[in-house]
Amino acid sequence: MKYIPRVLTSRFDAASLNNLPTKGEFALMKQHKFTCQCCRIICVPTKKYMSAGLEVVTINKVKHVLCILCAQSQYLERPSLSNGGNTPDSNIGVLTVYENYTQGEIIAICRDIHIARLFIANNGGRGINRAAYQAMEDVYNDFYNNVGSIQNITALGIKSQHISGYVSIYKYASPKLMENEEKVFGKVRYIPNTKAFEDVLNYWLSTSYEPIIQKLT
Ligand SMILES: [Zn+2]
Repeated sequence: MKYIPRVLTSRFDAASLNNLPTKGEFALMKQHKFTCQCCRIICVPTKKYMSAGLEVVTINKVKHVLCILCAQSQYLERPSLSNGGNTPDSNIGVLTVYENYTQGEIIAICRDIHIARLFIANNGGRGINRAAYQAMEDVYNDFYNNVGSIQNITALGIKSQHISGYVSIYKYASPKLMENEEKVFGKVRYIPNTKAFEDVLNYWLSTSYEPIIQKLT
């Protein structure tokens, strides 16, 4: 399965750590060992946050278990509810055309670097393995400089990296165009604005980031 940005309809109004899975959804998450099928993050559910930052997303009639950031790439019209969960944030990120990394790899890079920065800030910068952190930064910077140099999605006639142009093309695409969905949209990538998902990232930092934190310290 190739994950490309989509404009599907969500059963939730906004991306939120508070979103509760149904019984069936929770069972499917369990079956997938609470692992996102796109970026491969392994989540840990708690009594308070049963979804653990995961969601069940139906793509072409198949149910997928995705983390909130990867689910966002499928729900481009949906805002995020972070920072206490009161104000919906529509600044969820940008789109670009990029083949060097899969959608899941891009989200993993953005996620890891944001969580590493949160961890360092929480610890006042103490006890950090600078070389390990720098290695993460280097990958991120390399990735970001490359996608940053792509100014628009010319292949689809979209003149900016903002999501709105893509949303209207995707939503009103003819059935014939959608038959070739992967061919038409297959190189488009969603780059999350990780700030809009900080509640989820903080949750993962405290529940499931031990292996990465060990590398960083
Ligand atoms: Zn994911």
